Parts: sequence; structure tokens; C-alpha cells
Amino acid sequence: MKEIYVDNNATTRVDDAVFAEMRPYFCELYGNPSSMHFFGGQVQKKVDEARKRVAALLGASPDEIIFTACGTESDNAAIRSAIEVFPERKHIITSRVEHPAVLTLCRNLAKRGYRVTELNVDGAGQLDLQELKAAVDEDTAIVSLMYANNETGVVFPIEEIGAIVKEKGALFHTDAVQAVGKIPLNMAASSIDMLSLSGHKLHAPKGIGALYLRKGVPFRPFLVGGHQEKNRRAGTENTASIIALGKACELAGTFMDDENCRVKALRDRLEKELTARIPHARINGGGAERLPNTLSLAFEFVEGEAILLLLSEKGICASSGSACTSGSLEPSHVLRAMGVPFTCAHGSIRFSLSRYNTDAEIDLIIRELPPVIKRLREMSPFGREFLAASN
Ligand code: PLP
Repeated sequence: MKEIYVDNNATTRVDDAVFAEMRPYFCELYGNPSSMHFFGGQVQKKVDEARKRVAALLGASPDEIIFTACGTESDNAAIRSAIEVFPERKHIITSRVEHPAVLTLCRNLAKRGYRVTELNVDGAGQLDLQELKAAVDEDTAIVSLMYANNETGVVFPIEEIGAIVKEKGALFHTDAVQAVGKIPLNMAASSIDMLSLSGHKLHAPKGIGALYLRKGVPFRPFLVGGHQEKNRRAGTENTASIIALGKACELAGTFMDDENCRVKALRDRLEKELTARIPHARINGGGAERLPNTLSLAFEFVEGEAILLLLSEKGICASSGSACTSGSLEPSHVLRAMGVPFTCAHGSIRFSLSRYNTDAEIDLIIRELPPVIKRLREMSPFGREFLAASN
């Protein structure tokens, strides 16, 4: 059975060209880029090239890119740096729908005495900018709000947020792990101070990330030790993966139009057909601007896990929420924050597409999912009641 992989917000396939580019840096060109000899020097050149490629995708300058081990590290580095840079400021602003990489850290800091404001979202997953305006004050060290949500794909109005944050002199960080490579970004014309990205969401390997740090923004390193990354992130560089990330960013730039046209058209067709064929299906985040590849659907009176298992039998790999929450039967914190009723939140499925998905795959999902939902509703007492009431 050939799998249909529509779980790209969890992780992506490493692109063949990315793998080809990183491969020599394990067994042949394995030098340490810090070494003075020619062997290290040629690796350093490729690391420099990778930095330029990442910077180009972000509209940033290469000096503004710090390589890290993952999106989680970039998020931690940004927030921890801000509170060290502004020791007198004891307030942090984030939102209730952030990834645990941000939310858990902020909640841990709250236990250590920081005042943490978690902004609410409305039913469409959007922020109320008046709530943000009222929350930012002279005590705010950092505002950390995600660019795009991993579960619903909802995109926050980042530049409007940035303008509000800057009025009070706080730092502005965005977790753009799901946005980079999917929508165009331009740091040169942005108010973002720090931005996190992760390689495995854009067809590079797992275990490589980067932090964009605007020139002139004060910074304290999260990892200290050697002088790597201009003293901003100690530790011998993960050279092969850095080179892979550079290539993946170059390809993401090339495929950006495809992502925003062909992939979006696939997602839109999936959304239209499934909502037409399945009664009582709602689009989580449907009223908001969303990533072109993401579709989160809620089906009343069915269990997301049961849907996933039946889809998996047909070779369809989707997700019932973020990868971190699947495996637990708690409804996702994102859907709860959006006020999605309990009975729907439990039956939510996320399809996240990539440039590898085809029309034929979308046809197959459109064919296979409606009978799966019908069968599950018929099997559950609540579902039967619901079907009887809606007939
Ligand atoms: N932030 C968001 C929005 C994510 O979706 C993820 C991963 O799912 C992360 C952060 C964490 O990235 P990483 O897996 O590279 O640590």
C-alpha cells in the first residue's frame, strides 16, 4: 500500500536534492568548520553559503541567522534572551494557542515569578489586538506570538502586532516554524526582532533550526561554551544539517508560488468536497487567513483517533491535532482556546499538504473519508442519536 502523507505540519520528507547536498558532509567532508586547515575551510564555505540561503528566504542578512538544533531551541533562546537583556522587566506576553515550545517555557517562567499574559483567541483562532494593546506595558520584556498555528494554519497579523509591541519598547519574537517556506516573509521590511524556524517542516532533516536575530537587537546566548555562531550559540556546528537547511530554504523559495497556488488549490478542493459530502463538518479557523497547506476539520460525535486509525488502514496519514497532543485523548489546547465545542474538538482531523501531494491523492481522501465518518457515527450511541435528529 502506497501511503498518502498529509501530515506535513508534523514533519516533512527530506527532499532528494537536500539529501544529496548534505550527504558528502558525513564521511568525506567531515571537517570541523572552526579548524584552521583547508579541510575545515571548505566546510566553513558551505556553512556560509547555507547561512546566505536561509537569509535570502527570510529577506534578512546572513549575519542575522543563528543556527540552532530545532524550533524549540530557537523559541527558548529568544524568550530567555529577552528576560536576561531586560532584567528589570518582569512581564511576558504570549497566546493560549502557542506551540508547547513557547507555552511550557512561559508557564515555567510564571512559576518563577514572571507575570505572563496569555492572550485569548476568538472562534476563528484570531487575536483581539485591543487585548494586546491593553496588555503591553513598560514592564513587558517580550511578546512572543506565533506567525501561523500548527493545528489550524491560522496566520496572525504579525506586522500589526509588531507595531503595537514596538510602541512600548518590548522585544517581539515570532515562532514562524509553520510559516517559513509556506508564505513569503521579508525581515527587511518587518518589525520582528527574533524569528524561529525549523528544518524538518520544510523538507530538511529533523534536528536543525535557526533563529533570526535582527541586527542591533541585544542578545544573550542560551548555550554558552565555544565561540561558534559569533558567540551567540555555542557547540560544534551540525554541518551536514546546516547545509541541508540552506538547500531546503533555497528550494522553498523556488516552490513558494507552487505552495501558494497548486498546493492551496488542492487544500481548497479537499475542504470544499469534504464539507459538502459530510454533514456537520466545520472548518477550524475557517473565518481567518490560513496557511495554504492546512485544513483542520471538526466532525461532530466521532473520535479523531478512531478516524485516524480507519484512515491509516487506507494508507492515509493525517493527524488529530498537533503531533505532541495526539496519543492523548485530551482535546487540543488550541481548539479549546477557540471555544470549539467538546464534541467537535474530539473529532478534529488535520490535513497538512506539501508539494509532493497530487490530485489523485486528494481524490482518494475525498472518496474514503465520508464513509469512515458515517460508519463511526453509526457505531456510537451519541452519533446514532445525532444522525436520527439530523435526518
Ligand atoms: N513551533 C511550532 C509552531 C511547531 O509546529 C513546532 C513543531 O511542531 C515547533 C515549534 C517545534 O519545532 P521542533 O520540532 O523543531 O523543535
